[in-house]
Amino acid sequence: MIEEKLRRQTRKFKERADYDQQQNAYYLLPFRFHRLDETRDILVNEVGDYLVVSTGTVEKIVSRQITKKSHYDLYADLLSGFFISEQPIPPLIDILATRYRTKKSFLDQFTSLHIFVISLRCEHTCHYCQVSRVTQDKAKYDMAERFIDQGIDLMMQSPNDQVTMEFQGGEALLAFDKIVYAIERTKRLALTYAKQVTYVICTNMAVITREIVDYCLVNTILLSTSLDGPAYVHNQNRKRPGKNSYELTLQGIELARSVLGHDRVSALMTTTSLSLNYPTEIVDEYAAQGFRSIFLRPISPYGFALRNERKNHYETAQFLDFYKKALDRILEYNRQGHFYSEDYATILLRKILTPFPVGYVDLSSPSGSITNAIVFNYDGAVYASDESRMLAEMNDFTFQLGHLDTHSYADIFYGPKTQQLTQAWTNESLPGCSECAFQSYCGADPIHNHATQGDLWGYRPTSTFCQKNMEIIRYLIDLMETDPTVKAIFESWIKPRP
Ligand code: SF4
Repeated sequence: MIEEKLRRQTRKFKERADYDQQQNAYYLLPFRFHRLDETRDILVNEVGDYLVVSTGTVEKIVSRQITKKSHYDLYADLLSGFFISEQPIPPLIDILATRYRTKKSFLDQFTSLHIFVISLRCEHTCHYCQVSRVTQDKAKYDMAERFIDQGIDLMMQSPNDQVTMEFQGGEALLAFDKIVYAIERTKRLALTYAKQVTYVICTNMAVITREIVDYCLVNTILLSTSLDGPAYVHNQNRKRPGKNSYELTLQGIELARSVLGHDRVSALMTTTSLSLNYPTEIVDEYAAQGFRSIFLRPISPYGFALRNERKNHYETAQFLDFYKKALDRILEYNRQGHFYSEDYATILLRKILTPFPVGYVDLSSPSGSITNAIVFNYDGAVYASDESRMLAEMNDFTFQLGHLDTHSYADIFYGPKTQQLTQAWTNESLPGCSECAFQSYCGADPIHNHATQGDLWGYRPTSTFCQKNMEIIRYLIDLMETDPTVKAIFESWIKPRP
């Protein structure tokens, strides 16, 4: 009888005020936090705005110990930064929603970068490269015109009005005739489909000629090359007969700049075990060659490169040490009045300091594979990304989305393989990332997870992707918070440049 009475009492609806424990207090909005160091935490809201506070502040916020009276400035920062609200639904919620939409608007246009692996032939034998084939067998290793046509047709179906057509190899210029064929056809179709096409050729410069550069000038083609550092690093990393890759690269850069203009030629470096010893020298080499930026890239942790364990395998901690030393050197140049930026930091800083979308493939959520980039291989296979192609070279075809001969646009871009990938391509829903303070600065990379940890979801505590990004983001924020000069330098890197 007593039990029945109690049951009836507890089933009765209470007044709203009984549930509302937040009367006369504030409401929490979604934010995440992370320890910057022993004394400071960082809070990051849903759209990437951050606040650095002393350790223990989060607990005070959550237990409603922060009041206007006790912490006037902090309270105001939390309120204006959408960390807390004085009403259950903040009056400016639409602004927050608009900012969230803006951050994700890189998705609006869908795939932009279309990579054509125009040839697998190469006259280099770089020890970290999975595609080196010193062969004259053009028919076997150059992209057939049929595949070029089919790839272009798919590119024309992209909802994106502005697409990039990038030619990669092997050494792409060994198949320059195929590049010309592809560009001439694309130019004609671009008029019909109202597409603006940016052309990029990735080349090691070894076989570049004046005629090639003239064609690039007429067709406003950008050139992207590889420069791993001074000769004693570059020539060790990038082997070729004659051992003169460095010399040929510099000659090619000079020729291309003299015709196309200084900023139409960019360079990328890859960090090998050897490079780890020369952070300062590599940064100095880029400066000496007139570059105003450098992209400090670790080696891709995909099958082939890791076959050469001694030359290509190192711990993420070693790369981070190298990265920080190189970044320090770059900051020295800036302090002396020279503009010199690091590209990975610049991408992250755009995400951290601006409200704008950043569509960098490796740091996107949803992942930039397919949504931003697609790869048409020389043999007609279509891959979700360049890394997917590297895996296929090791006989792992998990990310082959289809084939140009047999699959339609819908099969490739919305088919079962793509759907499988989408299960793990937002960091908002990945264990570990879903509660990470750096979620909006970082991205999801199911292909990296698969390659390094055996499944699409990965495991954050041992993920090298996570280890690298978490520490670089933490380091950049720490530098900005510790030294206002660094913050000013970083802000100069993210300003739009002509
Ligand atoms: S990968 Fe690591 S740093 Fe990036 S969002 Fe996930 S947990 Fe955070």
